[in-house]
Amino acid sequence: MLVILDARCTEAQCAAVEEAVRAIGCTPLPVAGRERTAICVTGNRGPVDPGRFAQLPGVRECIAVTKPWKLVGREVQPESTVVRIGPRGEVAIGGALPPVVIAGPCSVETEARTVAIAHAVKAAGARLFRAGAFKPRTSPYDFQGLGAEGLATLQVVRRETGLPIVSEVVDRESLDAMVEAVDVLQVGARNMQNFSLLRALAAAPCPVLLKRGPAATLTEWLMAAEYLLAGGKRDVLLCERGIRSFSDHSRNTLDLNVVPLVRELSHLPIVVDPSHGVGARDRVRPMARAALACGAHALLIEAHVSPMTSYTDAAQTIDVATLTGIARDAEVLARLETVERATIGAQ
Ligand code: PEP
Ligand code: MN
Repeated sequence: MLVILDARCTEAQCAAVEEAVRAIGCTPLPVAGRERTAICVTGNRGPVDPGRFAQLPGVRECIAVTKPWKLVGREVQPESTVVRIGPRGEVAIGGALPPVVIAGPCSVETEARTVAIAHAVKAAGARLFRAGAFKPRTSPYDFQGLGAEGLATLQVVRRETGLPIVSEVVDRESLDAMVEAVDVLQVGARNMQNFSLLRALAAAPCPVLLKRGPAATLTEWLMAAEYLLAGGKRDVLLCERGIRSFSDHSRNTLDLNVVPLVRELSHLPIVVDPSHGVGARDRVRPMARAALACGAHALLIEAHVSPMTSYTDAAQTIDVATLTGIARDAEVLARLETVERATIGAQ
C-alpha cells in the first residue's frame, strides 16, 4: 500500500500518517517526490485497509502496490533516479542522460600498470575506472586480489587521473577500507543475495552497483535491491552481467531482455557488463552496442593496455582501441536519441 500525500503536506500530517502505519504493526518508509510524498507501508502480511488512511489530513489517495518490490518500483517513484558519482557528483548515470562508459582491468595490478591503464581508458572515453582489489574466485588456489595494497593503488589512480573508482566489496570486514578508497561499491554476482552485506551497504556513504546473480530471476534481483533501498540507500545502480543457461557457447548468457524491462519497472539506472556476459573479447563490442541500443544507462567493461597479460579474465579483456570504439558508439547513440526525441517532440 502506498499512501500519497500532497506535495504541500505538513510535517505533522506526514508524521500522523506514519503513526497510523505503525499502529497497524507495519513500518512506514517515506519517499519524497517533486509532486507528491509517498509513504510506503511495509511489513504487512496481508492486504492493508485503505480506509485507515484515506481520511487523514493531507492524504490524496491510497494505491495498492501490485509488485513484490516496493521502493525500487515506479509505482512508488515514477521519476527516474539519477545516480551522481564522485566527490562533486561529477558523473551522473540514469534517466535520459547519455550513457556512461566504466572501464578498467578485472583486477588491480601493480601500481604502475594500473595507473597506466587508467590514463589509457580515460583517454579512450571512460568516465569511471573499474578494478577489483578483492576478487571472489571459484578456486581458493587462484589469485584473490591484492587486497589493501590494491585499495592504496586505487587511491593513487583517483588522485592522478581524477577518475572516480568502482570496485567490488566482498564482505563487511573490508567495508570501511573500501569506502575510503572507492566511489561506487560493486556487489558481485556471487554476493547478490548476501543479505547481511546488503544491509551493511545500505548505510554506506557512496552509491552501490548491484550485479545480477548468475541464476537470479528479475524479481530476485529487484528484491535484493529492495534490501538496499529499505535500509535507506537511494543511489543504487543495477548491473546485468549474464546468467547461467544451457548455452555453452559463451561464458554466460547476457540477458538484454531485462534492460527495457528494468527501465519500465524500476526507476533505478541499468548498467550492462558485456565482458562477463560473453567471456570473449571479440564479442564485447557487438554486445556493448546491443546493450546501448536497448537502453543501458552505462557499460561496465574490462579493458587493459596489454589484455593478454591481465592478471584475471584475460580472455574477455579488450584493448584500448576497442574501448575507444565503444565510447564512440555510445556517443553516436546518444546523439541519435537526442535527434529522435527532438523529432518526436516536434511532431
Ligand atoms: C568483476 O566485475 O570482475 C566480477 C567479478 O564480476 P561478477 O561478479 O559479475 O562475476
Ligand atoms: Mn572480471
